[in-house]
Amino acid sequence: MKGLVKTARGPGNIEVRELPVPSIKNDDEVLIKISAAGVCGTDIHIYRDEFPYWPPVVMGHEFSGVIEEAGPAVKGFKPGDRVVAEPHTHFCGSCYLCRAGHIQVCSEKRSPGWGMDGAFADYLVMPSLFLHHIPGSISDEIAALTEPAAIVVTGLVERGKAGVGDTVVIVGAGPIGLLSLVTAKAAGAKKVFVLGTDADEAMRFPAAKALGANEIFNVTRVDAADRILEATDGIGADLVVEASGAAEGINTAAAAAKKMGRVTVLGLPGTEKIHVPWGNMVRKALEVSFCFSSSVSSWEKAISLLSSSPLDLNALISHRTKIDNWEQVFADIESGKALKALFIPRQG
Ligand SMILES: [Zn+2]
Ligand SMILES: [Zn+2]
Repeated sequence: MKGLVKTARGPGNIEVRELPVPSIKNDDEVLIKISAAGVCGTDIHIYRDEFPYWPPVVMGHEFSGVIEEAGPAVKGFKPGDRVVAEPHTHFCGSCYLCRAGHIQVCSEKRSPGWGMDGAFADYLVMPSLFLHHIPGSISDEIAALTEPAAIVVTGLVERGKAGVGDTVVIVGAGPIGLLSLVTAKAAGAKKVFVLGTDADEAMRFPAAKALGANEIFNVTRVDAADRILEATDGIGADLVVEASGAAEGINTAAAAAKKMGRVTVLGLPGTEKIHVPWGNMVRKALEVSFCFSSSVSSWEKAISLLSSSPLDLNALISHRTKIDNWEQVFADIESGKALKALFIPRQG
């Protein structure tokens, strides 16, 4: 089979390689035939050498697939089942985080796509512990959005307490920002504002419009924090979702939140140090939740979100292509000319 491999440490060092089909080594594992695999901001960080990884490693941690083979100890899943899987493949099991159920932030965590071979290939082996069934109402392509949707559910719903009647501001109009919009609407938000830059005008703002954003502000052109204050009688937003990872975005998030408001942080910055308006945040008594990866409890909620959304979530997907075209896909993501890009092994 073909796989997209980060071959060595350093920026770049990615190529399509011919690889053997992986095989089940433990009785509780399944071999999954990949249906669709999403390219994530994390993959771009790995490309740029800004995120930990153990090369050579097949990239990709967001996927949907079909079980091809199941080990003898696998319960509840069988060949032919359509599945998605939490990427918490390796964790220690004994630290205070693991014992409290927070395996996603265990310091020994390793996931497919950077800590072990991942989903930008035809097949992947996973322990069955992490599997979830895909309901018949969700396509393979939408199911491949489950992992980022679970991150968003963790950040907005579980930690950010998104709820009925909230005014929500989303800083950043990439796939995580757009999924945050879908989630805020599903949680009962009264109004959702989406913020982006000139780079988002062509594709991401129209997608935000299609997914029900009440207003969209281009922070390159207008002072978005001022506009949000105007739109909220000078009060500010109940919940701000920081989904840009950029210094200006973080500053705008702090400025747009109301006093006693909530900020949930999903954007992954690069390696630079970021200046934060800490004093303003203290004086506003903000409740700030940082969020990294997805909680175990968010996965079934994310599947429910994707299967019950009244919106056409295909508006979130911009690319459906083979891994051979990875260079173009990565370049499009880096220049904002992409929403969620999917690698589809059997794409014509
Ligand atoms: Zn991801
Ligand atoms: Zn642990």
